[in-house]
Amino acid sequence: MNDEILRVENLHITFTTSAGEVKALNGVSFGVKRGEVLGIAGESGSGKSTAMLSVMGLTGEYGHVHADKMTFMGEELTPERVKVLRGKNISMIFQDPMTSLNPVLSVGYQLEEALKRHHWEGSIRERVIDILTKVGIVPAEQRMRDYPHEFSGGQRQRIMTAMSIACNPELLIADEPTTALDVTVQAQILKLLRELRSSSGMSMILITHDLGVIAGEADRVIVMYGGKIMEEGTVREIFNEAHHPYTVGLLRSVPKADGSHERLIPIEGQPPDLLNPPKGCPFVKRCPKAMKICLSQQPEPSTLSETHKYSCWLGVKN
Ligand code: SF4
Repeated sequence: MNDEILRVENLHITFTTSAGEVKALNGVSFGVKRGEVLGIAGESGSGKSTAMLSVMGLTGEYGHVHADKMTFMGEELTPERVKVLRGKNISMIFQDPMTSLNPVLSVGYQLEEALKRHHWEGSIRERVIDILTKVGIVPAEQRMRDYPHEFSGGQRQRIMTAMSIACNPELLIADEPTTALDVTVQAQILKLLRELRSSSGMSMILITHDLGVIAGEADRVIVMYGGKIMEEGTVREIFNEAHHPYTVGLLRSVPKADGSHERLIPIEGQPPDLLNPPKGCPFVKRCPKAMKICLSQQPEPSTLSETHKYSCWLGVKN
């Protein structure tokens, strides 16, 4: 475990809302190794983005975070420590580049400010030109004077990528980085992230509901549902040997990467109401294999290999 740069143990997050307490995360543990890509899959509301916002210290004043352990490069991630690391050592790319960039400031100015804030040593202007060129915004000297609306959606996502990697972070969290983009631009951004990873050795957490993206990019996968981890394993273990009925359902609901034309089967029903989470397994209302025990008791993780675990009362091979 020494090569882990991030470790989170037993993370719980509750949000106070006017309707009551929303239990967004319920005992989630994971780690990321140096240079590794960890994919986090699951439907909206599964808790995948919330888990990462808590790592960034961005759950807001209504989010109550509790974890047995949360460390980055061996040091405890206290709120004070996160403020120092955020944007410099741990960085995040958000889904919508238009709302993340300031429309009234040039992109060059915004990049310069990010570098100044994190005390970049060396020429800031040179770094801005270098990093914009790296993400394919050229000629960078000229384009750094332009405003966000003067770029296409794909270019804005490239600029956000530039901003998040400007300080050479050790860990990049990419939250649905390609969801709003067309397929061609999506492929370009993923290729860019791959190149940046291999040149810098940074680790990445890739949050997406797109299993195809995870299959192509990740080393390991966590599948989340209802604020809990349902299954985790290497890409091969998850895509070829899924055991959890939710993972099996997710894989059946999307086209296969090998192009085979199997009938797609959606998972019927809705995710659980986290204001009143189920007492037993969170997937119980939608699970075709549910048993009596699933209603009242949460399953403990079963270990299939050093890397492969799943939480279910029943082993289901797909
Ligand atoms: Fe289905 Fe029960 Fe397994 Fe949950 S614990 S996934 S309800 S079989």
